[in-house]
Amino acid sequence: MKITPFIETKRLAIKLKPSAEKMVKQGHPWIFENSILKQNTDGKAGDLAIVYDNKKNNFLACGLYDPYSPIRIKLIQYKKPSQINEDWFVNRIVEAFKIRQPLLETDTNSYRLLFGENDLLPGFIADVYNKVLVIKLYSHIWFPYLNWMIPCLIEIVNCDAVVLRLSRTLQSKGATFNLHDGQVIFGDLENEVVIFKEHGVLFSANVIKGHKTGYFLDHRHNRRRVGELSYNKTVLDVFSYAGGFSVHALHGGAKKVTSLDISRQALEMAQENASLNTHEGTHDIIIADAFEGLQSLINQKKTFDIVVIDPPSFAKRENEISRAKKSYAKLAKLGAQLVNSNGILVLASCSSRIIAEDFFKISEEHILSAGRSFEVQEKTYHDIDHPVNFTEGAYLKCGYYMLD
Ligand code: SAH
Repeated sequence: MKITPFIETKRLAIKLKPSAEKMVKQGHPWIFENSILKQNTDGKAGDLAIVYDNKKNNFLACGLYDPYSPIRIKLIQYKKPSQINEDWFVNRIVEAFKIRQPLLETDTNSYRLLFGENDLLPGFIADVYNKVLVIKLYSHIWFPYLNWMIPCLIEIVNCDAVVLRLSRTLQSKGATFNLHDGQVIFGDLENEVVIFKEHGVLFSANVIKGHKTGYFLDHRHNRRRVGELSYNKTVLDVFSYAGGFSVHALHGGAKKVTSLDISRQALEMAQENASLNTHEGTHDIIIADAFEGLQSLINQKKTFDIVVIDPPSFAKRENEISRAKKSYAKLAKLGAQLVNSNGILVLASCSSRIIAEDFFKISEEHILSAGRSFEVQEKTYHDIDHPVNFTEGAYLKCGYYMLD
């Protein structure tokens, strides 16, 4: 299969500044451009960058060279060198598939097969929605290897179609070899809206135009949990997007579910997703900014048995951290005022720059500052198709608080 023309790659010899060398020895996958001490020749995207120890000159790690990113080398192999060839990629994909097996034994046909750095394939995401595989590339380093990887992925996933998504940064510089965002690179995609199952609940995703690869698979375990808690309950789902939590709540027998999001389009998706499943409860939507919408519900003296607040990442950059913390604090305080006695407040964060410990501390302090006491029911992290193998890879955390 020829996705790209043949792209020649070469090997580069690299030495690093001591602090970066230490990070590599600890297994960190990123080498920043300003950490490189010596490089024998100029590199192109996807060239193999072999990192040698400064003192002993022995092999430390191998990565792929990215001239377009400040993260100049993305590591794929540590300690022991082995040939980076088609077999190497096949092994990586097979290993990743094995890790996901327990999930595939549930009533679920949507999963993340490759999670970038965490599966030793930095910037390479592969999400499966039923019979459709969506590949999202965040770096040019992958173009030379697609002809090896795609046939293997198609075989393992047993999919009917493959859609390629390219990140905005990737599209803005460097060659893309006539590939474009949203291109169907294998098979036929009958409909860009694909229907799939998540723990027995049906959802749809627009794999061509949707955010990221079309849907957020990462909260699957939390959505199932909220579904289990929702029987005969009233539920408010804030930052609902396509209704992940809302639809599980309805499926779980909620009496009444309210989805709140700033985007009308997201709420329309939530309604469509709800209608894919049979349920008896009602589903309302509120189009509003979450902070204003929550305050307005408080002013109207509305309350719910379960309130889920799962915002987008508030700290995409280092300098956004302190503002992000304030936003999490505000949301916890607003949310706590809307929960019935013995009801549950579910607070989630997907900002990797705010570590779980800090997020839970902020949330708990601000539940208290709303005049509510709480009991921690559960704290959850990543589902098995989103493994974590380096500090910045851990982004998802979710606390379940029962309020007095
Ligand atoms: N909880 C969702 C994922 C949330 S994604 C799930 O389980 O799939 C983030 C959502 O927040 C998007 O739908 C976006 O439209 C919405 N959003 C972003 N800023 C917002 C704001 N200020 N108020 C309300 N919604 C907002």
